[in-house]
Amino acid sequence: MYAPNTISTTDTVDYYNSLFKRLSYYLPKQLHNVGDIKIVVLMPTADGGMPHTRPPNIICYPGQRGVTHGTVNSIINESPSTFVHEVCHVHQRKFSKMWTKLFAEMGWIEWKGELPHKLDNSRRYNPDTIDTPLWIHGSWVPVPIFRDISQPILSEVDIWFYHAVEGYHVKTVPEELMIKGLPHSAYEHPREITAYIISEPEKYSGTDVYHIIRRYIDI
Ligand SMILES: [Zn+2]
Repeated sequence: MYAPNTISTTDTVDYYNSLFKRLSYYLPKQLHNVGDIKIVVLMPTADGGMPHTRPPNIICYPGQRGVTHGTVNSIINESPSTFVHEVCHVHQRKFSKMWTKLFAEMGWIEWKGELPHKLDNSRRYNPDTIDTPLWIHGSWVPVPIFRDISQPILSEVDIWFYHAVEGYHVKTVPEELMIKGLPHSAYEHPREITAYIISEPEKYSGTDVYHIIRRYIDI
Protein backbone atom coordinates (compact mmCIF):
# COMPACT_ATOMS: atom_id res chain seq x y z
CA MET A 1 0.00 0.00 0.00
CA TYR A 2 1.23 3.44 -0.79
CA ALA A 3 0.47 6.25 1.59
CA PRO A 4 1.75 9.70 0.77
CA ASN A 5 4.34 11.13 3.05
CA THR A 6 2.23 13.99 4.27
CA ILE A 7 1.50 15.52 7.61
CA SER A 8 -2.10 15.18 8.65
CA THR A 9 -3.16 18.53 9.95
CA THR A 10 -6.36 17.34 11.64
CA ASP A 11 -4.46 14.71 13.57
CA THR A 12 -1.56 16.90 14.41
CA VAL A 13 -1.45 17.15 18.14
CA ASP A 14 0.09 20.33 19.41
CA TYR A 15 -0.21 20.63 23.11
CA TYR A 16 1.79 21.05 26.25
CA ASN A 17 0.11 20.53 29.58
CA SER A 18 -1.72 17.27 29.01
CA LEU A 19 1.35 15.74 27.44
CA PHE A 20 3.47 16.76 30.31
CA LYS A 21 1.24 15.17 32.90
CA ARG A 22 1.49 11.82 31.17
CA LEU A 23 5.13 12.19 30.31
CA SER A 24 6.40 13.24 33.68
CA TYR A 25 5.38 9.83 34.96
CA TYR A 26 7.77 8.14 32.52
CA LEU A 27 10.49 10.74 32.10
CA PRO A 28 13.53 10.98 34.38
CA LYS A 29 13.31 14.29 36.20
CA GLN A 30 16.42 15.76 34.56
CA LEU A 31 14.53 15.68 31.26
CA HIS A 32 11.49 17.56 32.56
CA ASN A 33 13.01 20.83 31.38
CA VAL A 34 12.69 19.74 27.75
CA GLY A 35 10.03 22.41 27.23
CA ASP A 36 7.40 22.57 24.54
CA ILE A 37 7.14 19.50 22.33
CA LYS A 38 5.07 19.12 19.19
CA ILE A 39 3.83 15.76 17.99
CA VAL A 40 3.12 15.23 14.32
CA VAL A 41 1.37 12.02 13.35
CA LEU A 42 2.53 10.82 9.94
CA MET A 43 1.12 8.26 7.55
CA PRO A 44 2.30 4.74 8.46
CA THR A 45 4.73 4.44 5.55
CA ALA A 46 6.34 7.81 6.10
CA ASP A 47 10.06 7.84 6.81
CA GLY A 48 10.36 4.07 6.94
CA GLY A 49 7.61 3.90 9.58
CA MET A 50 10.10 4.90 12.24
CA PRO A 51 9.38 7.48 14.93
CA HIS A 52 11.96 10.24 14.96
CA THR A 53 12.37 13.91 15.74
CA ARG A 54 12.86 17.00 13.65
CA PRO A 55 14.46 20.22 14.82
CA PRO A 56 13.88 21.84 17.11
CA ASN A 57 11.17 20.05 19.11
CA ILE A 58 8.96 17.96 16.83
CA ILE A 59 8.35 14.27 17.37
CA CYS A 60 7.18 12.56 14.19
CA TYR A 61 5.18 9.45 14.77
CA PRO A 62 4.22 7.33 11.76
CA GLY A 63 1.43 4.84 12.38
CA GLN A 64 -2.02 3.75 11.32
CA ARG A 65 -3.56 4.08 14.75
CA GLY A 66 -1.91 7.38 15.23
CA VAL A 67 -3.47 8.69 12.07
CA THR A 68 -6.96 7.43 12.75
CA HIS A 69 -7.09 7.76 16.54
CA GLY A 70 -4.30 10.21 16.97
CA THR A 71 -4.54 11.10 20.60
CA VAL A 72 -1.58 11.91 22.72
CA ASN A 73 -2.50 9.49 25.44
CA SER A 74 -2.85 6.49 23.15
CA ILE A 75 0.54 7.20 21.58
CA ILE A 76 2.22 7.42 24.95
CA ASN A 77 0.36 4.52 26.50
CA GLU A 78 1.05 2.17 23.63
CA SER A 79 4.77 2.65 23.78
CA PRO A 80 6.04 4.85 26.58
CA SER A 81 9.62 3.77 25.95
CA THR A 82 9.47 4.93 22.33
CA PHE A 83 8.16 8.21 23.57
CA VAL A 84 10.86 8.67 26.17
CA HIS A 85 13.43 7.76 23.52
CA GLU A 86 12.18 10.53 21.23
CA VAL A 87 12.00 13.07 24.07
CA CYS A 88 15.67 12.30 24.75
CA HIS A 89 16.47 13.40 21.19
CA VAL A 90 14.63 16.69 21.62
CA HIS A 91 16.47 17.23 24.90
CA GLN A 92 19.82 16.31 23.32
CA ARG A 93 19.38 19.05 20.72
CA LYS A 94 18.33 21.66 23.24
CA PHE A 95 20.91 20.87 25.94
CA SER A 96 23.74 19.69 23.74
CA LYS A 97 26.43 20.92 26.16
CA MET A 98 25.28 18.62 28.93
CA TRP A 99 24.99 15.69 26.56
CA THR A 100 28.42 16.36 25.04
CA LYS A 101 29.87 16.14 28.55
CA LEU A 102 28.06 12.90 29.19
CA PHE A 103 29.18 11.47 25.83
CA ALA A 104 32.77 12.42 26.65
CA GLU A 105 32.55 10.46 29.90
CA MET A 106 31.30 7.53 27.83
CA GLY A 107 34.36 7.90 25.61
CA TRP A 108 32.75 9.64 22.63
CA ILE A 109 33.80 12.89 20.99
CA GLU A 110 32.56 14.51 17.82
CA TRP A 111 34.56 13.52 14.75
CA LYS A 112 35.32 16.11 12.10
CA GLY A 113 37.38 13.88 9.82
CA GLU A 114 36.48 12.75 6.34
CA LEU A 115 35.02 9.37 5.49
CA PRO A 116 36.20 7.43 2.45
CA HIS A 117 34.10 8.34 -0.57
CA LYS A 118 32.38 4.94 -0.73
CA LEU A 119 31.15 5.15 2.85
CA ASP A 120 30.24 8.79 2.61
CA ASN A 121 28.21 8.12 -0.50
CA SER A 122 26.19 5.27 1.02
CA ARG A 123 25.41 6.68 4.40
CA ARG A 124 21.97 7.34 5.77
CA TYR A 125 21.49 10.61 7.58
CA ASN A 126 19.38 10.53 10.69
CA PRO A 127 17.27 13.58 11.55
CA ASP A 128 17.93 12.88 15.25
CA THR A 129 21.66 13.34 14.81
CA ILE A 130 21.99 15.40 11.66
CA ASP A 131 23.54 18.45 13.38
CA THR A 132 26.48 16.33 14.62
CA PRO A 133 26.37 13.09 12.61
CA LEU A 134 29.81 11.55 13.22
CA TRP A 135 31.39 10.66 16.56
CA ILE A 136 34.45 8.68 17.45
CA HIS A 137 35.13 6.28 20.31
CA GLY A 138 38.79 5.29 20.48
CA SER A 139 39.48 4.88 16.76
CA TRP A 140 35.96 3.83 15.76
CA VAL A 141 33.46 6.00 13.90
CA PRO A 142 30.04 4.36 13.43
CA VAL A 143 28.39 5.05 10.08
CA PRO A 144 24.83 4.02 9.12
CA ILE A 145 25.02 2.49 5.62
CA PHE A 146 22.13 1.66 3.29
CA ARG A 147 22.02 -2.08 2.56
CA ASP A 148 21.19 -1.35 -1.07
CA ILE A 149 22.34 2.05 -2.20
CA SER A 150 20.52 1.62 -5.54
CA GLN A 151 17.29 1.37 -3.55
CA PRO A 152 17.88 3.21 -0.30
CA ILE A 153 15.22 2.34 2.28
CA LEU A 154 15.36 4.21 5.57
CA SER A 155 14.76 1.15 7.69
CA GLU A 156 17.19 -1.02 5.68
CA VAL A 157 20.42 0.18 7.18
CA ASP A 158 23.41 -1.45 8.85
CA ILE A 159 25.90 0.23 11.12
CA TRP A 160 29.47 -0.04 9.89
CA PHE A 161 32.43 0.97 11.99
CA TYR A 162 35.16 2.98 10.30
CA HIS A 163 38.63 2.77 11.80
CA ALA A 164 39.73 6.39 11.56
CA VAL A 165 43.43 5.63 12.07
CA GLU A 166 43.89 2.61 9.80
CA GLY A 167 41.23 3.53 7.24
CA TYR A 168 39.34 0.23 7.07
CA HIS A 169 35.85 -0.67 8.30
CA VAL A 170 34.13 -3.57 9.99
CA LYS A 171 30.46 -4.52 10.04
CA THR A 172 30.26 -6.01 13.50
CA VAL A 173 30.39 -4.02 16.70
CA PRO A 174 34.03 -3.69 17.84
CA GLU A 175 34.54 -5.21 21.25
CA GLU A 176 35.54 -1.94 22.91
CA LEU A 177 32.19 -0.38 21.98
CA MET A 178 30.02 -3.29 23.05
CA ILE A 179 27.24 -2.73 25.55
CA LYS A 180 25.48 -5.88 26.63
CA GLY A 181 21.96 -6.15 25.24
CA LEU A 182 22.11 -3.06 23.06
CA PRO A 183 20.68 -3.59 19.55
CA HIS A 184 23.09 -3.14 16.63
CA SER A 185 21.21 -0.12 15.28
CA ALA A 186 21.76 1.81 18.52
CA TYR A 187 25.52 1.98 17.97
CA GLU A 188 25.20 4.56 15.23
CA HIS A 189 25.58 7.53 17.55
CA PRO A 190 25.97 8.26 21.28
CA ARG A 191 22.61 10.04 21.13
CA GLU A 192 21.03 6.74 20.11
CA ILE A 193 22.97 4.71 22.67
CA THR A 194 21.82 6.97 25.49
CA ALA A 195 18.23 7.23 24.22
CA TYR A 196 17.98 3.42 24.13
CA ILE A 197 19.36 3.06 27.63
CA ILE A 198 17.34 5.89 29.18
CA SER A 199 14.08 4.64 27.65
CA GLU A 200 14.57 1.06 28.88
CA PRO A 201 17.08 1.35 31.73
CA GLU A 202 16.20 -1.97 33.37
CA LYS A 203 17.70 -3.81 30.39
CA TYR A 204 21.10 -2.20 30.84
CA SER A 205 21.54 -1.85 34.58
CA GLY A 206 24.50 -4.25 34.54
CA THR A 207 26.55 -2.15 32.12
CA ASP A 208 29.19 0.52 32.80
CA VAL A 209 27.46 3.01 30.51
CA TYR A 210 24.27 2.77 32.54
CA HIS A 211 26.18 3.93 35.61
CA ILE A 212 27.85 6.79 33.74
CA ILE A 213 24.44 7.98 32.51
CA ARG A 214 23.12 7.82 36.06
CA ARG A 215 25.59 10.51 37.10
CA TYR A 216 23.61 12.87 34.88
CA ILE A 217 20.16 11.42 34.61
CA ASP A 218 18.21 9.63 37.27
CA ILE A 219 17.28 6.45 35.40
ZN1 LIG B 1 16.61 7.46 18.24
